[in-house]
Amino acid sequence: MPTFALPLSRLVEALRSLPGIGQKSAQRLAFHVLKSPLREIEELAAALLEVKEKLRLCGTCFNIADAEQCPLCEDPGRDRTQICVVEEPGNVAVIERAGGYRGLYHVLHGAISPIHGVGPDQIRVAELLERVRSGEVREVILATNPTADGETTATHISSLLRPLSIRVTRIGMGLPVGADIEYVDEVTLSKALDGRRPV
Ligand code: ZN
Repeated sequence: MPTFALPLSRLVEALRSLPGIGQKSAQRLAFHVLKSPLREIEELAAALLEVKEKLRLCGTCFNIADAEQCPLCEDPGRDRTQICVVEEPGNVAVIERAGGYRGLYHVLHGAISPIHGVGPDQIRVAELLERVRSGEVREVILATNPTADGETTATHISSLLRPLSIRVTRIGMGLPVGADIEYVDEVTLSKALDGRRPV
């Protein structure tokens, strides 16, 4: 006998497929949905659909955007001579929350991972080189995660940038080895940016 009515089990299963959600959390969320007013759930469903239907990647930095360019690339107040390279769009939000950085970003959408068969061609490395070559960029800050894959990615990119005679720096000081930037606190991240070193 199934524990729940079929629509409820389906919702629990769907929620369980989300990152960080186990069986218990999925059930708690499902019962919350069940108790909530219809209007609130309609808003939630609409927001979920809107994200999939309206958002795309910025044509310049590959951050999440709702137009050809993301708001950061569009902002005339940002320093166009600096590009901070991150693995995922979520990392941009974290660095922005930490404050202090006024340059642009480049989102790789992954990291080079020999173990998982991910090479430089499967992430946005070529697009980064193109930006650096064609623009007014003077510094590239490598803010990939301090994990084996993040370090491999930073080393690979810095070797490609070396002939271009720009400043290439790597964040790291204060970041615990193996950490994911997504979960590092803002003070540590802000210090890591300040303490970046040339590579
Ligand atoms: Zn952008």
